[in-house]
Amino acid sequence: MCETCWELIAKADDTEFLDSLELTHAERSVLEELYKQGEDRIVEILELQGKELHEAILELNEELLIDIGELGKVLISVQAGDLFTVQFEQAIYDAFTPLFHLAGETELTVLNNDKSWSTKNKAASRFALKLKKLVPDMNGTSKDVMTRAFQKAIKEGKTPSERAVLVQEISAAATKGEEGPFSMKRAVTVARTMSTATANGGKLEGWKQSEVVTGKKWRSSKGSRTRKTHRKADGQVQPIDKPFKVGKSDLMFPGDPSGRAEEIIQCRCTMQSVMD
Ligand SMILES: [Zn+2]
Repeated sequence: MCETCWELIAKADDTEFLDSLELTHAERSVLEELYKQGEDRIVEILELQGKELHEAILELNEELLIDIGELGKVLISVQAGDLFTVQFEQAIYDAFTPLFHLAGETELTVLNNDKSWSTKNKAASRFALKLKKLVPDMNGTSKDVMTRAFQKAIKEGKTPSERAVLVQEISAAATKGEEGPFSMKRAVTVARTMSTATANGGKLEGWKQSEVVTGKKWRSSKGSRTRKTHRKADGQVQPIDKPFKVGKSDLMFPGDPSGRAEEIIQCRCTMQSVMD
């Protein structure tokens, strides 16, 4: 575990979720710091991506600026470029792998003192791969949002040059804005989604390695933001190697990246171990 992390205390706003993880004070400090690191990195990357998009838009001539097909191509090329794919994947790996280990090691130590957690274990790299699969989904969401905004601008402009100006304004606003696909708010959503997935994924791996946990029970987070399907899943028990049935998804744990986006984005649920 990173030594300097232990000394840093960052304040995560979602205390209810952190409480549910039942961590020691020291572990919790580490976790909060990891949250913050992951969030900061994602904020940085989305910002860069927004800037790159805006620069690409500014290079288009008036005719291309009001061609929605051409704008779509620009969006795809920015998203598929090195900046997003490679950097994002690396950031996810760097920010969330330690969290996976922390969650797994914590559970394993409590459950079975004879076993020791190895940070070289393959489960963590398998998990990182799974987490990376969320990237195309996230790209899809931001592409849809931008495409709709561009379409609206093209419809609203009365002359071709007015339309072109509106399109440029939209991309400029998206780069700087409080809202939208490249905003701080979105970065936090992305980071939180991944934190939940990672904390729960690590926890489940710790349980598996302990060889004393046989099942798992879904615990939905309280509050009005909790999805109906997740409230319904509260208390659902499954064998450790079988998925929970949540809405239309099969989820091995809350936030499981193999599930549909609608069941995992900003999920704050957790789970409890079941022993025979
Ligand atoms: Zn949930």
